[in-house]
Amino acid sequence: MLEKVRYDLPQDEIPTEWYNILPDLPEPLPPPKDESGKSFEILKQALPSKDLEYEFSQERYIKIPEEVLQRYLQIGRPTPIIRARKLEEYLGGHLKIFMKMESHTYTGSHKINSALAHAYFALQDNAKFVSTETGAGQWGSAVALAAALFHIPAHVFMVKTSYYAKPYRRYLVQMYGAQIHPSPSEFTRYGKEVLQKDPNTPGSLGIAITEAVTYALENGGKYLVGSVVNADILYKTIAGMEAKKQMEMIGEDPDYIIGVVGGGSNYAALAYPFLGEELRKGKVRRKYIASGAIEVPKMTQGVYRYDYPDTGKVLPLLKMYTIGSDFIPPPVYAGGLRYHAVAPTLSLLMNKGIVEARDYHQEEAFKWAKLFSEVEGWVPAPETSHALAILGELNEEAKKSGEKKTVLISFSGHGLLDLGNYADVLGFDKK
Ligand SMILES: *Cc1c(COP(=O)(O)O)cnc(C)c1O
Repeated sequence: MLEKVRYDLPQDEIPTEWYNILPDLPEPLPPPKDESGKSFEILKQALPSKDLEYEFSQERYIKIPEEVLQRYLQIGRPTPIIRARKLEEYLGGHLKIFMKMESHTYTGSHKINSALAHAYFALQDNAKFVSTETGAGQWGSAVALAAALFHIPAHVFMVKTSYYAKPYRRYLVQMYGAQIHPSPSEFTRYGKEVLQKDPNTPGSLGIAITEAVTYALENGGKYLVGSVVNADILYKTIAGMEAKKQMEMIGEDPDYIIGVVGGGSNYAALAYPFLGEELRKGKVRRKYIASGAIEVPKMTQGVYRYDYPDTGKVLPLLKMYTIGSDFIPPPVYAGGLRYHAVAPTLSLLMNKGIVEARDYHQEEAFKWAKLFSEVEGWVPAPETSHALAILGELNEEAKKSGEKKTVLISFSGHGLLDLGNYADVLGFDKK
């Protein structure tokens, strides 16, 4: 008998609504604060107007525009759920492991799920172009593809060090026809100012955000946010909405839902449609566990307080777990995990003890990436490998209790453009 490993949702069964957790939270989300008196006005002008509307919406389900749905179908949605049978065997058969494969979209991660929505809403506002920042390049390439599919120009400001150190995602942005600038750049007024003061600056995400925002504000464009905020998580819930249908189809109900947190969007997007249902019933049975890089320990060592979402301190303050917007992360390779804080909704759920947090060292996560590649045959993104590390602990617990457990994991991306990073840490010969 053949054992099935892949569970597909047919394209004509793709969910047609996003899920919004705001009305189902155990208490109201602390509102953003405008300390400078200017940040709300900046956001209002810089963001697509629908983003702002959805940021505070109390509607539980929101209809996905047909133009966005059509493009979801084009870029590889619905993504499959794959059962990691070989890894289960390797671990001794104590777990059933189901993976929601966001690595199977055209840009190789979950980020395209919201990029398409943001770009569409920017177009609805008659924006002349869209702009954004990118660190390692995953978000930049997603925005570039989304802009291409909606025929709107895109400017991507890539942190200068990554621009030179990680050329392949930069080339991908260019394949999609977007303009990419090493940040700080000569292309914007703000970039020129920074360069005048310090011509050799390596750049930072904060500088790149400020360049992208000011360039959009001054030239009739819209700025696209790639994580953390409620609207971005909402758009990405297409993954969790699909997964819910798929798990029902498979006939399995996960005991654990796990994933990795940079700003929190891919994990929240998978977990919230499941968790929301439990919150409405008033009883949370499943265990929700999110992990991150111990080198950037915002979840396990951060404080739940108001902080700036950006290093440039131009955006409104948000209440979230943070290690401080001035925190300079060590150069860990999982670029998507370097963010200093956790999305406000996810922070609230962590503060209430509903979502648990764990952090892992890069070396440990990368060992899991190597093992997973050998056993399952698919290379996880460095970020995703930090979620795989949770499996080891769950396996020990299941083994001790003698009860077989079912795990659903957000497989946030593949690592085929990150092989250089794996080579560095795992010690492959690079000559
Ligand atoms: C960006 C990224 C992350 C982290 O970002 P979230 O907003 O927390 O989802 C995780 N995995 C991959 C592959 C990424 O590209």
